[in-house]
Amino acid sequence: MKNNKINRRNFITNTAKVGIGLTILPTILQAKEDGVVVNFKQQPLQYSYKDLEPYIDAATMEIHYTKHAAGYTKNLNEALKDEYKKSNAITIEDILAKISSYSSKMRNNAGGHYNHELFWQTLTPKSSGKPTQKVLEVINNSFGSFEEFKKLFSQAAATRFGSGWAWLIENDGHLKISSTPNQDNPLMDVAEVKGYPILGLDVWEHAYYLKYQNKRTEYINNWWNIINWEAVEKRLLNKK
Ligand code: MN
Repeated sequence: MKNNKINRRNFITNTAKVGIGLTILPTILQAKEDGVVVNFKQQPLQYSYKDLEPYIDAATMEIHYTKHAAGYTKNLNEALKDEYKKSNAITIEDILAKISSYSSKMRNNAGGHYNHELFWQTLTPKSSGKPTQKVLEVINNSFGSFEEFKKLFSQAAATRFGSGWAWLIENDGHLKISSTPNQDNPLMDVAEVKGYPILGLDVWEHAYYLKYQNKRTEYINNWWNIINWEAVEKRLLNKK
């Protein structure tokens, strides 16, 4: 079928683009006989559930990764079965950029999948505790100092009402802080503040409630100890 050929060509083109571009968030695609089915998968964690203790406990990590995040990925794939024909979207970024034309199921789960993949990759038990030199330079240029950035980001995370995310985003070489509700993110066409997310903090209660109960601020303060600044630098540089 003609349609299949077109989709297949786009599949190949876009896969090549992904290959030479951003590799930190690989998009897993599968072309099938009956057309193109985009099949997203969770990437394996680079550490074990207990490795982020005492900052994030093992039970929270396991439930968060195997239940909450896995659910978003599963539901994203389900939504795609019905909706992939709406556009030639192949990568998760393509979908997010036109999210207003999809269902709310797609919005919640495409966002949920992308956000959690980013979250896991920007965590590490071996954090240096400080940004790499390159990231620090851009932070200093944008916010004046690391301490000022930390204060503003923590505020954004603490004051996000209900469930959502706080973000550090890049736009034209400049960094900004923003936050989004639910599983929205700054790559979505519906986002109030748009840009490329280089760091994100999940402030849904499921991310901290077992250990911290209602103390979101304590969770935020502790999260600074487990940031993978090398991964943040990769995202910053790949975007440029
Ligand atoms: Mn989460």
